[in-house]
Amino acid sequence: MSDADLIVVGGGLAGMTAALTCAGRGMDTLLLEAGGALGGRTRSVKNRSTGEEVDNGQHMFIGAFEETLSLLELLGTRYMLKKAGSEYVLVDAGCKRRRMSLIDLPGLLFMPAAVLHLNHLSLMERLSLGRVALALETASEDQRSAWDDTNAEQWLLDLGQSKKVLKGFWRPMIVSALNEEPSRVSALALAVVMKQGFFAGAARAAPMLATTGLSDLFARPAAAKLEALGARVEYGAKVVSFEVEGNRVAAIIDRKGRTWKAGQFVLAVPPWNMEKLESVFGELKQHGYTWSCSPIVTINLWLDRPVMSDAFIGFIEGPVHWIFNHSFNGTGNRRQGYRYSVVTSCAREAVAIPPADALKQALDAIEHYLPKMRKAVVKNHLVLKEKRATIPPVPGQWLSRPGANTSLDNLFLAGDWTSTGLPPTMESAVISGRNAAEAVLSSA
Ligand SMILES: Cc1cc2nc3c(=O)[nH]c(=O)nc-3n(C[C@H](O)[C@H](O)[C@H](O)COP(=O)(O)OP(=O)(O)OC[C@H]3O[C@@H](n4cnc5c(N)ncnc54)[C@H](O)[C@@H]3O)c2cc1C
Repeated sequence: MSDADLIVVGGGLAGMTAALTCAGRGMDTLLLEAGGALGGRTRSVKNRSTGEEVDNGQHMFIGAFEETLSLLELLGTRYMLKKAGSEYVLVDAGCKRRRMSLIDLPGLLFMPAAVLHLNHLSLMERLSLGRVALALETASEDQRSAWDDTNAEQWLLDLGQSKKVLKGFWRPMIVSALNEEPSRVSALALAVVMKQGFFAGAARAAPMLATTGLSDLFARPAAAKLEALGARVEYGAKVVSFEVEGNRVAAIIDRKGRTWKAGQFVLAVPPWNMEKLESVFGELKQHGYTWSCSPIVTINLWLDRPVMSDAFIGFIEGPVHWIFNHSFNGTGNRRQGYRYSVVTSCAREAVAIPPADALKQALDAIEHYLPKMRKAVVKNHLVLKEKRATIPPVPGQWLSRPGANTSLDNLFLAGDWTSTGLPPTMESAVISGRNAAEAVLSSA
C-alpha cells in the first residue's frame, strides 16, 4: 500500500516548493526531511549565548527573484522582505564610499547611470563596462551558449575590461553574486546574472533583506501551509536507498530502515547527498555532471553601539566582502547589542582557519573600513562556517545540469543545482521545485 501519491525527499526551498505546489493541486503529498526542520541551506540557527536565532548566513534577495517572491506570497511572508535602499554602497581600499545607484532608466541606459558614481574607476574605465552590456544585448543564442566554455575573467578581458576594472568592479560583483572567483566561474553564468538581474533595471536589481530570520520567512510558514493543505512532513527521515523495479522507483528506504511507497517521487537534495544514493546517482553520471562547493563564512557581531547607518556595505577589496546591519532590517535584538553580520564569500581561507582567527581578521578589516568600529565593544560574537554553501557554476557545467525528468518514469529531480536557466541560488531552487512539480503533475 502506498504512503502517499507523491513523496518529496528534502525540505529545502526546492523540496518545499515542489511539495506545496503538488499538495496545492490536490495530491496526497508526503515530505521526508533528514533534519529536524525545513529550510535546508536557508535556515536560522540558535545562538546559545544570546538565545537569539540567527541565520546560517546572510541571504540577499533582489527584485529579479520573481519565483521566490511568489513563494513568499503563498506563504504569507512576502511583507517580511524590505527593500534595502536604491543603491549598492561599496567602500574602496582607501575607505572611500562609492555608490552604484539604481536609477529607473530603460534598457542600455540603466547600466551607465548605475556606475556613474563608481569614481574609483576612471571615466574611460566606467565607459568600458558598456562593452559588456552591449555584448549581453546583441549576442546570438549560439554565441551565448559558447560563453559557457570560457571563464568569466577571460571573457571580460576579451571584452576589453582592464585588470583594474576586473579588480575594482567585476571581482566584487562576481564573488558576491556567484560566490566564486572570476577565473573559476562560467562566463555564461555571469552573463545570465547580469542580464536578468544587475543590468536589467532598477526594479530587478533592487536589493531586499528579510526583516525576520530565514526560518520565520520560509521554513515555519511552509510547514504550516503544508499541514493546512493536508500534506505530511516526516522529520529525521534520511533516505538512504531507492528500490527500483524496471523503469520505476517502487519504494525508498530511510536510515531507520523504514520503507516508504508512493506513485511518484521528487528527489530535492544537493548533489553531495545524491551521490550517496547509488541507484539514482547514475543520473548525474549519465549527464556528465560534476560539481564543487564554495564556502561562506558569516561572523555575527553584537556591539555596544551602532557603527553604520546603511543597511549593508560592500568592500571592494579585503578579506571580508559585506557587512549587514540588522538594526536596519529589525532582525537584531537591541537588548543583546547592535547586531551586524560580516560576510566572506568563496571563503576557502576563512573556513580553514580557527574561528578566533577568522574573527580577528574580520574585526581588523571592519575597523579599517568603518572608523566608528574602533571604539565599539564586541559584546558577543558567533562565527558560522558553511563549507558547502553554494555550488559554483564552473565553465562547461551549464548544459550538463539535469532537468526535472530522469530516466526513471516516476522519479523527478529538484534542487538549485539542476537545470533552471539560473546559477544555483534561492531563485534557482524555487524554480527547480516548480519545474519538478509541473513534471509530476503532467505525468500523473
Ligand atoms: C551561508 C549561505 C548564504 C547564501 N546566500 C545566498 C544569497 O544571498 N542569495 C541566494 O540566492 N542564495 C544564497 N545561498 C544559497 C541558497 O541558500 C541555496 O541556493 C538554496 O537554499 C538551495 O536550496 P535547495 O532546496 O536546492 O537545497 P538545500 O537547501 O540544500 O535543501 C536540501 C534539503 O534536503 C535534505 N536532505 C539531504 N539529503 C537528504 C536525504 N538523503 N533524505 C532526506 N532529506 C535529505 C537536507 O537536509 C535539506 O533540508 C546561500 C547559502 C548559504 C549556505
